[in-house]
Amino acid sequence: MANLEAVFAEDMQCPVCLDILRPPVRLCQNGHATCDDCHNKIDRTWHTTRCPLCRGDFRPDPCPVKEQLYYSMKVSCKFDGCKVKGYGREVVRHERRCILREVRCSKCVWEGPHVWLPSHHFTNHVRMKK
Ligand SMILES: [Zn+2]
Ligand SMILES: [Zn+2]
Ligand SMILES: [Zn+2]
Ligand SMILES: [Zn+2]
Repeated sequence: MANLEAVFAEDMQCPVCLDILRPPVRLCQNGHATCDDCHNKIDRTWHTTRCPLCRGDFRPDPCPVKEQLYYSMKVSCKFDGCKVKGYGREVVRHERRCILREVRCSKCVWEGPHVWLPSHHFTNHVRMKK
């Protein structure tokens, strides 16, 4: 019998980031799944909302089966440099508060980890003011 985790890993791989699918999971009409983040990335990079594997359209509804699978898997926080690991459902909650989560500056186009926002703000928006 195949190793259950190996089956999960293969079934749960996103063709765009080659990582584990992260909810919300988007499905194309032929059943290929990508993370919602990756779906948005395709849209921004290639200006298309079609599936990278089959060029099919994505379905508007998310995929609860793969999302449930993710919640019960051991995963790690998606943000670079963060060492937090745990079950998907806990990690999803952690990612919303992760100090390394990607944020966007409200005053310019800067994007980066949340911990750097205050220093970015100080160097770029506070000191500039006369
Ligand atoms: Zn992905
Ligand atoms: Zn597809
Ligand atoms: Zn984290
Ligand atoms: Zn800024």
